[in-house]
Amino acid sequence: MGIKDALQRVENRIHEACLRSGRDPREIQLMGVSKFHGSDEVAEAWDAGLRLFGENRVQEAAEKFPGFMETHAGCELHMIGTLQRNKVKAAVQLFHCIQSVDRVELITELGKHTAGREKPLPILLEMHTGEASKAGFPDLDSLSRGAEQVLECPGLVIRGLMTMAPYTDDTAVVRSSFKTLSAARDRLAERFPGCDWSCLSMGMSNDFEIAIEEGATLLRVGTMIFGDRV
Ligand SMILES: *Cc1c(COP(=O)(O)O)cnc(C)c1O
Repeated sequence: MGIKDALQRVENRIHEACLRSGRDPREIQLMGVSKFHGSDEVAEAWDAGLRLFGENRVQEAAEKFPGFMETHAGCELHMIGTLQRNKVKAAVQLFHCIQSVDRVELITELGKHTAGREKPLPILLEMHTGEASKAGFPDLDSLSRGAEQVLECPGLVIRGLMTMAPYTDDTAVVRSSFKTLSAARDRLAERFPGCDWSCLSMGMSNDFEIAIEEGATLLRVGTMIFGDRV
């Protein structure tokens, strides 16, 4: 199956999941996770209508996207992988949003490199909700400390939360991970009513329908759009 058909199939499934769960498809953004896939595949997805892309390594994104974005106005690129301190400077120049902000030290570093900006850089705070890698803020209090740190940085602005569910066939475990993120968002919105917590980035190829049912507003889908990463 080509990328165009694969994308159509994902969009149909998103639509059906929205119907089942009483959600409005217009409040859900689909990201194509293009890691390990080349710019020709990105272009194919673009031609099929996809506008938002995600990469998990700065170096790979830097090879693929700057030229593409120059000729494709409206292309949006988010960082979704663990960000090392020494890559922050390049990352804030390349990405429109850093979704994988998983520790206070990273916020401090991002703050330094965005200090003089006219428009602040959108970020999501990543919460650890059970996935094996252990990336992310572990609980509500650590997320709150993260949010406080972001408020100290005029070059950064919070847009919401992201998580990765554990990789398992046990849908109850996956659902509980998404529920944890959604509940954390509700609490943070009470604690920090001045911030925008509207984005819930959760759901990948194998679990995006559960994510929709649990309130996701941004789905990060790689394999189901681009095929296996080889
Ligand atoms: C690779 C990746 C995805 C996409 O995973 P698929 O299973 O291929 O859809 C989503 N989010 C993050 C953080 C990733 O690293």
